[in-house]
Amino acid sequence: MITNFIKYLHKVFCLFFCLTLSACLDNSKDQEFTILTTTGMLGDAVKNIVKDDVRVVSLMGPGIDPHTYQTTQKDVQQLIHAHIIFYNGLDLEGKMTQLLKKIAKQKKVYAVSDALHTTKLLCDGTIGIDPHIWFDVSLWQEVVGFISQKLQVIRPESAAYYQANTAAYLKTLEELHQSVMNQIQSIPKQQRVLITAHDAFGYFGKAYDIEVVGLQGISTVAECGLNDIKRIVELIVERNIKAVFFETSVSDKSMRAVLEGCADRGHNVAIGGYLYSDALGPPDTLAGNYCGMISTNAATIVNALK
Ligand SMILES: [Zn+2]
Repeated sequence: MITNFIKYLHKVFCLFFCLTLSACLDNSKDQEFTILTTTGMLGDAVKNIVKDDVRVVSLMGPGIDPHTYQTTQKDVQQLIHAHIIFYNGLDLEGKMTQLLKKIAKQKKVYAVSDALHTTKLLCDGTIGIDPHIWFDVSLWQEVVGFISQKLQVIRPESAAYYQANTAAYLKTLEELHQSVMNQIQSIPKQQRVLITAHDAFGYFGKAYDIEVVGLQGISTVAECGLNDIKRIVELIVERNIKAVFFETSVSDKSMRAVLEGCADRGHNVAIGGYLYSDALGPPDTLAGNYCGMISTNAATIVNALK
């Protein structure tokens, strides 16, 4: 009788212990806590820091152009419900920027470009500051560190976890930076010219020593004109450039006009492929995360220009 009672007590204790333990473990995950990012590149950076600790939502999916993005009613709801918001800044988000600045008065909203010293930003007196900072992996490392620091302060209960994840991810990014450097350097110097639909690759060009020419400026908002097309055709013919590139988040109409212009001049220029410029690829593809996006681009460029 007493033995049975002890066994019963033991069972109750075990059950209580298990429930308490699982409650403690669940405490470290907070699926109600939502971090919202504008671009998929930022969403991927955050996910590599927090893993499955909290929810991460990105507003702009594959193929979406952030410069011309129109905020939807659903986005507004998501922005209101998010606990923290990270956006690129430097006017990448175009019209959404004003809304983000307004929301910043009520909750924690960070422009990740604030992580970078102004001397590291590319600036043209007439066109402003280039927002495509993710294309220099070494700058993106600074952005990841910035995001991680903010999250560690806001969620001290997960700080050690975030710190460890960040350290591992920064190591991966360092390897990626070196790998892209080696790949681009393998293209002979005179063939190292990257012609794209819009000027998204300025930081890429500076970091990995490849000349970059865009049909449109640093934003897709301004249309490209006939003179821009003529200018690029002239450059391709004169310098005997082998290939030009389309972008997944920009219409290929203008670049097709360039190809026609080159054909009229009797110059054969190949389509080097599609580059992921301002948006990640679909989630089930190699370019569905930041590292895959950068390495897919590097491979496309090397294959076409080498
Ligand atoms: Zn862009």
